[in-house]
Amino acid sequence: MSTPHTVSAAAYLPRDTADVVRTVRDSRDRSQSLAVHGGEPALDGLAVPDQRAVVSLRRMNSVLDLNLGRGTVRVQAGARLSDIDRRLGAHGLGLPIVGDHRDITAGGFASVGGVSTASHRYGMFIDQIVDLEYVDTDGRIGTCGRHHHTERFHRILGAGGRAGIITALTLDTIEIDKDRTWLSTQADRFLDFDTFVEHAHAEITRPGAAVLQVGRWVDTAPLKVSRPVGTGRVQLGTVRFGQWSSLYPTSPTRSLRARREVGSRARKSLGAIASASSGKAGMPVRNAAAGAVMFTPKVLTLRDAEYLADTVISSSERGPAYRVGVFAPTANYTSVFYRLHDLFSGHRERTGCFTVISAMTYGVRSRYLRSESAGRGLPAVDHGLITFTCRLRPSALPSEQLRDIVTGIDEICRSENALRYESAD
Ligand SMILES: Cc1cc2nc3c(=O)[nH]c(=O)nc-3n(C[C@H](O)[C@H](O)[C@H](O)COP(=O)(O)OP(=O)(O)OC[C@H]3O[C@@H](n4cnc5c(N)ncnc54)[C@H](O)[C@@H]3O)c2cc1C
Repeated sequence: MSTPHTVSAAAYLPRDTADVVRTVRDSRDRSQSLAVHGGEPALDGLAVPDQRAVVSLRRMNSVLDLNLGRGTVRVQAGARLSDIDRRLGAHGLGLPIVGDHRDITAGGFASVGGVSTASHRYGMFIDQIVDLEYVDTDGRIGTCGRHHHTERFHRILGAGGRAGIITALTLDTIEIDKDRTWLSTQADRFLDFDTFVEHAHAEITRPGAAVLQVGRWVDTAPLKVSRPVGTGRVQLGTVRFGQWSSLYPTSPTRSLRARREVGSRARKSLGAIASASSGKAGMPVRNAAAGAVMFTPKVLTLRDAEYLADTVISSSERGPAYRVGVFAPTANYTSVFYRLHDLFSGHRERTGCFTVISAMTYGVRSRYLRSESAGRGLPAVDHGLITFTCRLRPSALPSEQLRDIVTGIDEICRSENALRYESAD
């Protein structure tokens, strides 16, 4: 799913921590700045050419130690979470938070924070890190963790690679068999935004036994289609709908297993077709692929459910977009959701800069986030993550509009004790 990056000045592929030290010292001596990548650099819709030298940790991908007594695993930072999780599976263990696609590396996820549809139970990926080894910007090796050099630990986590390069991490695991844990989806659908937000708030506050949870809302601008030449355009109207999915443990019957097989084959085919379709002509297929993700299958395994979005949505989400994530304290969740929605739809109405506005949301009970909040003088409470993705019309978002939007988001966060989800990039 990653697109090769074509524009960097040089690429380093260290194999171990000593290589990373040499790379950092080398580039410091040449006054060359480094861009760190976990695996293959991906080219985002809004990415600009980067002239920094690239250091990719994709060859530092080993599992170094599995401590069954402590239930921890030590890995090199370039190891993909999906690979670590498979290795753990052989011992009846797993990672509680893995992100939504298979290419995410341990160091990359630690550097952004890491949330998932299991975050209402397990918090962020950062919460699972016991300790880590890093190379600082002067090329010195250091270690820090939950119980030692905690200030340094907090500076490196979520820093987007600016506070040094993470080279190895020790992670907590949980006892779980992801291939034999079957989940049943309880899906509620909404045509009305207010009811969707109220429902999401209730589920985030009281998730019950849900193993995974996620809410999605999609709101299109009026769809216009061209008639044959000369007969004008037809307006189809606005599509607005939402779905809340909670996935609970279940024991599958034989017929439900068979349905799961058919469903997962259909989604994979749709994903392959969506990947191959580009431009305007491919739009209906990509929209259908996005729709398939909304309609989570009735029964599936935990491993399938964790990567459901990866099956189809990566291809359907192409194209330039403005994205933002906000952690809202549960008490202010509905107000933050309404205000963000009004901000984006107001801009779309006034300027026409966005086409589809979509939101994704779930609960986050994170030790790390509570301590971050306390450190900023905010209440140490649980949060709901609200992410908005606003598809841009082909002409880029003018910088003064972008400034207005950023100011609007900052004001919402300040007045609602909410935190913006961002790396230091
Ligand atoms: C702010 C942000 C938050 C995201 N949150 C999520 C999320 O919660 N859930 C999800 O599924 N996806 C998330 N994504 C999308 C993407 O899946 C993550 O960025 C994921 O971490 C990518 O993994 P990667 O290993 O390819 O890292 P990259 O994309 O290569 O790097 C991600 C960031 O981490 C830095 N970095 C990478 N490796 C290291 C290292 N070893 N040491 C120090 N810095 C390093 C990079 O410089 C970059 O800033 C997020 C993206 C961003 C930008």
